[in-house]
Formats: sequence, structure tokens, C-alpha cells
Amino acid sequence: MADCPFCAYAEHWVNPGTEYNVDVDVDGRTVTFDRARPVMWFEPLNPVTPGHMLFVPTYHAESRAAVAAAAAWRCAYDYATTGDRSGVDFNIIVNAGEAATQTIDHLHVHYVPRRRGDGLTLPWTGQATS
Ligand SMILES: [Zn+2]
Repeated sequence: MADCPFCAYAEHWVNPGTEYNVDVDVDGRTVTFDRARPVMWFEPLNPVTPGHMLFVPTYHAESRAAVAAAAAWRCAYDYATTGDRSGVDFNIIVNAGEAATQTIDHLHVHYVPRRRGDGLTLPWTGQATS
């Protein structure tokens, strides 16, 4: 989709057909493409905690697209529960719609690692009431 920043990343999509994910440099940002699913992930412009990542379908999908959401969520969950992240607390969040603080109209799943005292206040606390 024209003017969609995530679709611009997706133009670099690589499907290696191997057991490995592929890291691609896109304008100085590392975008990782999943080895088996049409999903990519990268650090957002303004990470809310160290390690915050976005998991994004490699094709334009609305936030209510269930199949795309399931694949992106599964990638985020696998990422959260493997390797040196496996013992780290986390939130996995989808913001669907303006009232839910979605800012880019291309489905994305947030993986947010959490640490006690990290100071992050999630949207369901402290939001404006109007
Ligand atoms: Zn898009």
C-alpha cells in the first residue's frame, strides 16, 4: 500500500527457504524476516522498554485481519519465549483502531519486555478520558 511505512520495509522481504531467519539492513535499521512465515520484526522508532520489537506481516493487513494477526502474534510469542529472552517478563499487545492508540494502519504486534520498576505505564492506566 502506498505511503505505508511498514509496506516499505516489506519490499525488502526475503524468504530464505532455510532454517534461518534473515536480517536485512533497511535504511540503517535491522529488519528480520521469519524463515517460514510472512512476518518481519524490528525495533520501533521509540521503544518503550529496552528490547521492544514490532512483529509485522510482510503484506498490508488491517489490525482486525485474523490470519495475519495470528501469524504475527505467534512470531512474537516464539521470540519472547526462546533464547536469552525466555526468562524475561513481557507484554504482547495489538492496538486496533485510533481509540486504542494505533498510529500506523498496518497490523503490528508489540513485544514489550518488562522488568520490575521499569516505569512503563500501559495504555489502560492513566489515559485521557476524552
Ligand atoms: Zn502496509
